[in-house]
Amino acid sequence: MYRAFLLKYSEIWIKGKNRYLFENALLEQVKRALDRCEGRFEVIKEQGRVFVAALTEFDYDETLAALKRVFGVSSICPVVVVEDSEFENLKKNVYEYVSKLYGKGEYTFKVEAKRGYKDYPLASMEIASEMGAFILDSFPGLKVDVHEPQIRIHIEIRKNAYIYSQVIKGAGGMPMGTSGSATLLLSGGIDSPVAGYMIARRGVHIDAVYFHAPPYTSERAKEKVIDLARQVSLYSGPMKLYVVNFTEIQMYIYDTCPHDELTIHMRRYMMRIAETIAKNDKSLGLITGESIGQVASQTLQSLNTTNSVCTLPVYRPLIGFDKQDIIEIAKNIGTFDTSILPYEDCCTIYVAKHPVTKPRLDKIERSEKLLYDKIDEMVERALNETEVIEIE
Ligand code: ATP
Ligand code: MG
Repeated sequence: MYRAFLLKYSEIWIKGKNRYLFENALLEQVKRALDRCEGRFEVIKEQGRVFVAALTEFDYDETLAALKRVFGVSSICPVVVVEDSEFENLKKNVYEYVSKLYGKGEYTFKVEAKRGYKDYPLASMEIASEMGAFILDSFPGLKVDVHEPQIRIHIEIRKNAYIYSQVIKGAGGMPMGTSGSATLLLSGGIDSPVAGYMIARRGVHIDAVYFHAPPYTSERAKEKVIDLARQVSLYSGPMKLYVVNFTEIQMYIYDTCPHDELTIHMRRYMMRIAETIAKNDKSLGLITGESIGQVASQTLQSLNTTNSVCTLPVYRPLIGFDKQDIIEIAKNIGTFDTSILPYEDCCTIYVAKHPVTKPRLDKIERSEKLLYDKIDEMVERALNETEVIEIE
């Protein structure tokens, strides 16, 4: 029954020049999302909203799912389009609409009417009261409540007439491309895809870096990370995925440093390499999926030792989240099922039995010196041999 969607966005942030940037970015992202759907659509900006109308046959569920992934959209209203807006015909359509959605239940309602052009024979108030009376007569379960109705039935009359009442929650946040770029350290785990999603949701463009360690980590583990990058990019847009071969560095750390410190040294080199890639890309920050206390390498002491090798800000949007909260978001955004596939990631192979949980920076820096003979050339080699995968 639906032929169109009305998209609303929160206007708090968009004053003056920002408004124009915000709306254009939003329009572009809505069009990008629709490009992947069956059918052709018209996308129009009007009066602080975006109107999407299907020009051909389209798949409602697919289109709604795509629109729900557009950052910046706060809510989505599916709209019935009535081409002949003559009042008797409009009543007929409203009757069908209400009986389909609410006909059998008990609800309070209100009609909100808007007349978009002056020549229509009824004024907005008249449309609202006549249509309200008509609905009241037709459906015994529906009662009027003008203050806090359970349902607001909107009727707008322009070239066509529009009927809508359902409000579906959108992705929220800010449209992509309004806040610069950051670089996500993307592993195959549950947390980092969620972290990337959360920063992207603020309008930040993201690219990703994955450290793999063949042959200790398999081709399938890499495919899993590529899949996760694709899933995040459904929201965040095209991204580059840098795949860094970390085997040589990891082995060298394993052979050289105290084993209870392994994870800390590996994480420090991951952060350094990711930062170099980020800076070459004019990216303005790193993103990780860390959360305080989740594992030994995420105590405040550990975070302090890994953070201290970076000069770019490191964004950790999950820092105060419990695992269960993170899992919930992962399920909502569709990355969870891939994240729990059982392919080893590069850290799990080298984890110490008893890792330090309160590393001291001075001590870590001292043992890191043991690496200085060869580590720079290894880092250089890893950077030179980095594979870049374009995720569309
Ligand atoms: P995740 O679920 O994101 O893998 P985790 O709980 O397993 O997180 P760690 O393995 O300690 O935690 O990693 C912490 C963060 O470091 C990850 O969230 C991710 O941002 C980054 N990271 C860890 N391993 C890799 C990797 N192989 N490649 C890229 N980034 C990584
Ligand atoms: Mg992990």
